[in-house]
Amino acid sequence: LWNQVLERLQLQLSRPTFETWIKTAVVERLEEGCLVIQTPNPFARNWLQKYYIKTIGEVVQDVLGYPVDIHITIANGGEDQTLGDPELLWPIPPVSATPEPTQTNRPRQADLNPKYVFSRFVVGSNNRMAHAACLAVAESPGREFNPLFLCGGVGLGKTHLMQAIGHYRLEIHPDARIFYVSTEQFTNDLIAAIRKDSMQSFREHYRAVDVLLVDDIQFIEGKEYTQEEFFHTFNTLHEAGKQVVLASDRPPSQIPRLQERLCSRFSMGLIADIQPPDLETRMAILQKKAEYENMRLPRTVIEYIASSYTSNIRELEGALIRAVAYISISGLPMTVDNISPVLNPASEKVEALPETVMAAIADTFGITLEELKGHSRRREISLARQIGMYMMRHHTDLSLPKIGEEFGGKDHTTVLYSCEKIAQLKDNDPTIAQTLRQLGDRINLASRAQS
Ligand code: ADP
Ligand code: MG
Repeated sequence: LWNQVLERLQLQLSRPTFETWIKTAVVERLEEGCLVIQTPNPFARNWLQKYYIKTIGEVVQDVLGYPVDIHITIANGGEDQTLGDPELLWPIPPVSATPEPTQTNRPRQADLNPKYVFSRFVVGSNNRMAHAACLAVAESPGREFNPLFLCGGVGLGKTHLMQAIGHYRLEIHPDARIFYVSTEQFTNDLIAAIRKDSMQSFREHYRAVDVLLVDDIQFIEGKEYTQEEFFHTFNTLHEAGKQVVLASDRPPSQIPRLQERLCSRFSMGLIADIQPPDLETRMAILQKKAEYENMRLPRTVIEYIASSYTSNIRELEGALIRAVAYISISGLPMTVDNISPVLNPASEKVEALPETVMAAIADTFGITLEELKGHSRRREISLARQIGMYMMRHHTDLSLPKIGEEFGGKDHTTVLYSCEKIAQLKDNDPTIAQTLRQLGDRINLASRAQS
């Protein structure tokens, strides 16, 4: 069975993906509609779980003729295995085979991200007031701060805090009516209601809540009809003593084309702003994130990542994940030196030698340099060649005609076409994007070693 599954997967996935993540997995057992797949390490498991479980499920269903649940486990010992220096010990997987139990008995309408709770929010001098205000609102909604208006730059935790209020309420009152909505969603609902002639139910829906959380309210700018309707929604809720929380990337007075009466409504409660976090807070955020993901990181690494990303916590978290993925692929120890090529954009620009790029491509795709330079139109060879041209364009400063020469005398328009095609694939196909990233890491690493 597994061999058949592997064969089909091989056709669907790129070779690096297949080799790195799929081939190393084995079937542990198949029973009662559940296929248990074992992976060699936590990373492979997380990766499969995150990106490939759906594809695997579809292929297995195809082969078996009926659907099964897929469970991914880690080879025995994988969980408490130590790898040398305990400072570098990592990652220990967060194994919870069962889905989070709290989710099921919650009202659907809340639609909150389970991670956006107060306990996962790090308080620093940059967000202390916003955090305190949110807590106060969560404890006694509709009292002091109504509306609560959160403002701050992108990726600074507005959505997180706002949803934390919802979680908190639901914890105390599981049947509280909490509604989290983006401004875009509100607008779309409104348009749909107008079209379907169902304004009545739209209004009932939005006005029958205990806490209304509206995200990215700055997008209401210039939308006259949405502003009109939101004004009435707001008033109804406010008069009934229901809590409204709004989040925006700027204060009400700086939202252009916002009706004066809305602006004054938005400002009549409390406006709490969030500033970019200082280094200490950024480090604490990474630390907490690592704890939740059960990884232990050397302090130097935390410090390094925290000092490289200063103004957006989403990017900070992204950098951590990127570093972690890279270390797992490369098998190197988790040190500042080893992660800096993937994190530091400046060092990412290391000039590569053409032969380094060629070798990385040939090796990754398992084809020869001759094939790469030749004229075969076999799909995997021509794809490798196109990716090669794309990588050459990004990692060397060779001109298009020169790149053509490297690939056995291809025309510069062919090179250009290839680069554009791969750039497009990259945006639309996560597997290709991942392959390109891995290749880039590999080329950078080799180039750094040479220079
Ligand atoms: P915003 O809505 O302001 O653009 P988000 O609330 O989406 O930002 O936050 C971006 C990411 O950063 C989320 O994953 C969030 O959990 C995380 N984050 C932001 N601030 C903090 C914080 N103080 N502590 C922990 N995580 C945070
Ligand atoms: Mg947000």
